[in-house]
Amino acid sequence: MKVYENIIIGGGASGLMFAAQLRKKKRSMIVEGNSKLGAKIEISGGGACNFTNKKITPSDYLAEKSFIKETLKEYNNRWLLSWLEERGLEYRIKNGREYFCKKSSKEILDIFKREIRGVELRLSTRVESISKRDENFVVKSSRGDIVGKRVIVATGGLSFPKLGASAIGYEIAKSFGHSVTPLQPALVGFTLQPQDSFFKSLSGVSVHVVLKVGKREFSGSLLFAHKGLSGPVILNASLFWQKGYIEIDFLPNFDLNSIKKSSKSLSNLLPLPKRVTKHFVEALSIRDVAAKNLRKAEWEQLERIKSYTFAPAGTFGFSKAEVTKGGIVVEEVDQNSFMSKRVDNLFFLGEVLDVTGRLGGYNFQWAFASAAKCAKAIEHRA
Ligand SMILES: Cc1cc2nc3c(=O)[nH]c(=O)nc-3n(C[C@H](O)[C@H](O)[C@H](O)COP(=O)(O)OP(=O)(O)OC[C@H]3O[C@@H](n4cnc5c(N)ncnc54)[C@H](O)[C@@H]3O)c2cc1C
Repeated sequence: MKVYENIIIGGGASGLMFAAQLRKKKRSMIVEGNSKLGAKIEISGGGACNFTNKKITPSDYLAEKSFIKETLKEYNNRWLLSWLEERGLEYRIKNGREYFCKKSSKEILDIFKREIRGVELRLSTRVESISKRDENFVVKSSRGDIVGKRVIVATGGLSFPKLGASAIGYEIAKSFGHSVTPLQPALVGFTLQPQDSFFKSLSGVSVHVVLKVGKREFSGSLLFAHKGLSGPVILNASLFWQKGYIEIDFLPNFDLNSIKKSSKSLSNLLPLPKRVTKHFVEALSIRDVAAKNLRKAEWEQLERIKSYTFAPAGTFGFSKAEVTKGGIVVEEVDQNSFMSKRVDNLFFLGEVLDVTGRLGGYNFQWAFASAAKCAKAIEHRA
């Protein structure tokens, strides 16, 4: 039976970057459950893939900082940009800091498809388990066994199962004695408790807010959604939310005292879409009358719009989450090579590790950086 040098499980962001970095592509194989490579890359960033950010620091991640620091320093946004530019990628920058493909994610995917030429592909093949046979690994798949010297687990997280996500990476890790921290959906919308469900009738409306979750503060767009709350500011908050309260200022940079003497009604005064003001005043039992005629109790209620505190009921779940929070415990993985500290020649990359980034290109940056560093370490050892 043929023995491969590297069996890469998962043809997503980290698996593709790992394969692209190999000098010798022969005797390496990507095993991918989907019938195509990079399904998440393709639909990410609204179809244009937000692959990195102008500013990347360890504090943009929920992770053990000392584990990710050196990798993100060496394989940073400048490294990624120049690697992609050298291969002809054109990009655009959104919100002053988020890097997207110029037109479509196909542009970055095409680069990977070119760069991995020579690596054997086994598509539409689900990996079921891995075991050790002497010095080698036997990868049991839906299309038979594959034997290899090294296994690179690049299987991602649990989010978006319809794009091929599975728990196999965590199961492999556990079967070799690794620990996995609790897995939760992140970069995801919040569902609401009955008392806040009036938000749902604003479905489709976006407002600019400042939001506090624990010690973190985010400012950005909030989208009232059919199922609850969504939009960039909510997705970022979901990364740091652990069952508890969230505070939202729906009127950032606006001083309510400045309208106290006005004879205009609230819906004509507050810098919010009229529909939003009307729903708020109704839900908070405030009359939409001239501001100067509001009662003391109504002013007190109105103050709540600047520090609306609520406890989400939960999240929209893995089917809608962009990423999985939690994963393989990084202390059990060598930070220079990404090799398991428990089993030689078993490697873990990308999202399957307990490293999760904010919205804005941080998760692809991590997937690409961990893969490139691992490939370099392996080539160095070989
Ligand atoms: C809708 C959406 C939009 C996103 N947008 C962005 C964005 O713009 N910017 C950003 O930084 N991040 C974004 N992300 C997150 C980003 O896609 C992931 O963090 C990143 O792809 C992780 O890379 P990975 O290589 O670890 O895993 P993945 O890219 O998920 O790759 C894992 C691969 O393993 C395969 N696989 C799983 N189980 C098996 C099995 N049993 N057998 C064989 N193959 C298997 C999967 O099919 C998949 O192809 C988005 C995610 C989603 C869901």
